[in-house]
Amino acid sequence: MKKLIFFASLIYSLSLFAQQAEYEHDYMFFENSLMSGSYYYSSTSCRGGSYINNIQGKIPVSDEHAFTAPNSLMLDFSKGDGNWEAKILFEKVRGNDFFKESHHLSFWFYPDNTGEELYPDISIGPGKEAKSSEKLSFVPYIEKRKKGGWIFVKIPLEVFGIKDAEPGEIVFSGNQVPGNGRIFIDQVELYPMMEAAEGIAPPDITARGYERHVDITWPHIADARVKYLKIYRSEDQVNYRPVGIQRPYYDRFTDYTGESGKIYHYRVSLLDYAYNESRQSQTAGASTRTFSDEELMDMVQEASFRYYWEGAEPNSGLARENIPGRKNMIATGASGFGIMAIIVGVERGFITRDQAVQRMKKIVSFLGGCDTYHGAVSHFIDGPTGKTTAFFGKYDNGGDLVETSFLYQGLLTARAYFDAKEKAEKEIRNGITCLWEAVEWDWYDREKENKFLTWHWSPDYEWHIDHKLIGWNETMITYILAMASPTHPVDPAMYYNGWASQEERAREYRSAWGKTPDGSEYTNGNYYHGIKLDVGVANGGPLFFVHYSFLGMDPRRITDSYTNYFENNRNIALINWRYCSENPNKRRAVSGEFWGFTASDGPWGYRALEPLKEKENGTMAPTGSLASFPYTPEQSMGALKHMYREHGKYLWGEYGFRDAVNLDENWQARIYMGLNQAPVVIMIENYRSGLIWELFMKNQEVAEVLKNLKESE
Ligand code: CA
Repeated sequence: MKKLIFFASLIYSLSLFAQQAEYEHDYMFFENSLMSGSYYYSSTSCRGGSYINNIQGKIPVSDEHAFTAPNSLMLDFSKGDGNWEAKILFEKVRGNDFFKESHHLSFWFYPDNTGEELYPDISIGPGKEAKSSEKLSFVPYIEKRKKGGWIFVKIPLEVFGIKDAEPGEIVFSGNQVPGNGRIFIDQVELYPMMEAAEGIAPPDITARGYERHVDITWPHIADARVKYLKIYRSEDQVNYRPVGIQRPYYDRFTDYTGESGKIYHYRVSLLDYAYNESRQSQTAGASTRTFSDEELMDMVQEASFRYYWEGAEPNSGLARENIPGRKNMIATGASGFGIMAIIVGVERGFITRDQAVQRMKKIVSFLGGCDTYHGAVSHFIDGPTGKTTAFFGKYDNGGDLVETSFLYQGLLTARAYFDAKEKAEKEIRNGITCLWEAVEWDWYDREKENKFLTWHWSPDYEWHIDHKLIGWNETMITYILAMASPTHPVDPAMYYNGWASQEERAREYRSAWGKTPDGSEYTNGNYYHGIKLDVGVANGGPLFFVHYSFLGMDPRRITDSYTNYFENNRNIALINWRYCSENPNKRRAVSGEFWGFTASDGPWGYRALEPLKEKENGTMAPTGSLASFPYTPEQSMGALKHMYREHGKYLWGEYGFRDAVNLDENWQARIYMGLNQAPVVIMIENYRSGLIWELFMKNQEVAEVLKNLKESE
């Protein structure tokens, strides 16, 4: 009997191990820079008579030479007395925190007529548990394999005195020999022990042209031995040149050429972990042409929708926090947004209703079995197991009422949408009602004073995080759903006693958050850039305040004692647009056509930015202007065209616009975020047809609460 249990647990841990491996990332220092010019995650320095060519202290990117298209890094140096140094910094991508075990440091280099005696020294470090290593010559570790003048180098980590560590930088520097040299380096990584893959064959591909880009797609590749797909393009069907690589994590590659009215032909091959290349696939062709406004909106909606469709965590069918990111972790608020995006996907013909029904059945079934805390879900959940992931730290291991409200905004929209008589849709509706009725919103009225809702509760740490929900911000939906609950409602008086509270602690909270008394009484009343703001802290705050609660909840139908929220939201969007038009900090990216400060990834991590000189750093997130479409259709359409046509080369990708860009820093986000893609899909739809607003407002319990908002003071 004991033996049986032992074997059972062995099988269990083996399957966990297999699962774990699937979620691990390569420890990559450099494969390609999204931006031309300088490489953001690098730094250079020089002393005495030595010099390294640099762009404002960063390593230049070469579009001329590449081992993997489209670029490499150029080390163009001159060694005299003193020395030069070029560091490649590890780009910490949110949630990329599990890595394959590495045994070597490897890279490819192109010597460009530089003699071996001038090859730079190399060292590693420092980082998590890793100290700086000694400098050494990589010449003894040059392998025989050469490709098109590129040479492979593979150095065992023991040589550096480093093992099982996560170093922060790879450093190249001059050796003892004086002279000038120029080498190009590419694919700098900690190399996992992966065998060469025999007999891998490329998938059949299809290509579809848009205005200035082509999407090349293929059936999902599950073979873990495949490191990359290599994409070739031809304009004459004779000469095919590599234009990029893609991880099999994605089922498509977006080739932004910037030109319409062109015909392109594509082929792909596969690369294994030893950089052996398979044969090429069949050819697929597509053409680009100028798109109408309607077609451009379809294009942006469909691409952003794919984040939740193709990019979903497979077991739950729900949305990941960011892509690339933790492959097994879902974010519950983003998932609620994703459900609404999937409904748009059906109505716009991106998928069939039956496909959406199958997905919703999976989602409802998953949510019925995952961890909940008095009915509320946690912020992050492990997709394969349904267990809470405390991604934001140990105290965040319980219920998150705000994320719960974002999720239920989506679920209640789906309950209204899947209204057919047939069994599957009925099961979806009943399943959602069952989940909705189980959420104990009143538990989160911690003090039972009918005042403030509390954001988090944990079974281990209870109310430790102690964050009270006080408006104006993105959490209006949390109060409205808590008031609307058919089973565990809070007192409607909490709208004015908590959310819009006039108590001293509420005023202090708002002043501390906004760093100004403006809006500390919930109402504001000042003019900013010539526009009156009824409600809002500072001059309105980041734009996600006018998006997250109003994806389903129709602001045209929300009027309380202070304002109508469509008008107020529109004014917040207009203030943001006017600030960007004026661009007082003279940011490179910012203008009346590239506008909308909100929360996003950035060169210094995830931050919420506001249209104030001291509260923005030039990072522009496309979701800001695009999710404002119903409020500012003209300015949002202007931004859509400008971002796609002028900045598409780096900003446009597999799931639409990447999260953000900062041109002052020559930085482009690698990721797409679950919270930022769906609002684009949904709010463009609310502008075009009002669909999601109409569906969500069909929920009678919500409509009742909103109808009585003004009178309940
Ligand atoms: Ca490259």
